[in-house]
Amino acid sequence: ESAYDVEAIRRDFPILATEVRGKPLVFLDSAASAQKPRQVIEAVTRMYEAEYANVHRGLHYLSELATARYEGAREKVQNFINAKHSHEVIFTRGTTDALNLVAQSYARAFLEPGDEIIITTMEHHSNIVPWQMVRDEKGLVLKAVDVDDEGAFNIADMEALVTEKTKLIAVPHVSNVLGTVLPVKEIAALAHKTGAILVVDGAQGVTHMPVDVQDLDCDFYAFSGHKLYGPTGIGILYGKEELLEKMPPVQGGGDMINTVTIEKSTWADLPHKFEAGTPPIVQAVGLGAAIDYVAAIGMAAIGEHEGDVLNYATQRLASVEGLRLIGTAPGKASVLSFVMDCAHPHDISTIIDQAGVAVRAGHHCAQPLMDRFDVPAMARASLGMYNTRQDIDALADSLEKVREIFA
Ligand code: PMP
Repeated sequence: ESAYDVEAIRRDFPILATEVRGKPLVFLDSAASAQKPRQVIEAVTRMYEAEYANVHRGLHYLSELATARYEGAREKVQNFINAKHSHEVIFTRGTTDALNLVAQSYARAFLEPGDEIIITTMEHHSNIVPWQMVRDEKGLVLKAVDVDDEGAFNIADMEALVTEKTKLIAVPHVSNVLGTVLPVKEIAALAHKTGAILVVDGAQGVTHMPVDVQDLDCDFYAFSGHKLYGPTGIGILYGKEELLEKMPPVQGGGDMINTVTIEKSTWADLPHKFEAGTPPIVQAVGLGAAIDYVAAIGMAAIGEHEGDVLNYATQRLASVEGLRLIGTAPGKASVLSFVMDCAHPHDISTIIDQAGVAVRAGHHCAQPLMDRFDVPAMARASLGMYNTRQDIDALADSLEKVREIFA
């Protein structure tokens, strides 16, 4: 661990210096939402203090400046994920909004009754429910590939489900519960071999590793700003130009039209066709600042640091008696889900919260996966770029307390 200066990074995040319940904060819930560096907070403040107006409308100074900042953020996203064109980057409210857009536009317009969609049992609800909604409306078939007992994904199992009716495959880049990293590039090749498209839920992917959408050759890639150290209320749908071009808009209103008469309207060019109404302007600029921040450190370096902390955590938690780690696939990324034989996940999180340790407990918006592993809930510690081995020591010590109390 040479150039990665985690202490300097920690100093950029004001909240990490705060105390909760009289204890130094140990924040291990970044998969739910990440904390924000000062650089993002300042970019948001600067925008509101000196550069704010609505975009794409007025010809006045501030409107032009705000538009330049907003479109500049789109170019930062383009470069960050290596999209071919900036108009392949659509601003949405988040991953959920982006996946719903694909379901309500692409799937609704182009899939026919009897066509098949394949997902996995490890999906977040936001990559299940939108497909169920369009399935019920259009008479589609929805299938799910299972994971093995380690939480690993096997592409042969997916291949076995593919038929000539398969039109759309949707997978997470990284499971928010198991940490499993899916072979997106191989899945894209499998999808394209049958004439299907691949939709990637990248909410937990783009936060832990470099993403190059052209290299992955996925058709859509969705993610949220708030998990990438940016603001809430902003997310991204990347889509290939030729698909976005032919897709109908889902929301109508201002900014998404070319001409409007009482009889009919024509649509604006990409990306505006999918951005009806006043967009989350400042949130987009904040996401641009977050991307500047992580890109300067490097996603590969961030992933490497998190991998080191993950390995340490995996060893430390293995020594806690009665603790079962769920999700042990080789090459997994930064989440540690677990159950303990002595206590319910809600009791675990409540007790360790007294020591200032923040983890999530519950079904993690992945109820089919809870069924798969036959547990009602799990506790989950998830890592961000600012976590350290000391955070893991605090977690492990607090879990020993849980044992003392309950066992
Ligand atoms: N997919 C995954 C894998 C996630 O972890 C999350 C957030 N927990 C989402 C989708 C949904 O993201 P958002 O709530 O920001 O729309």
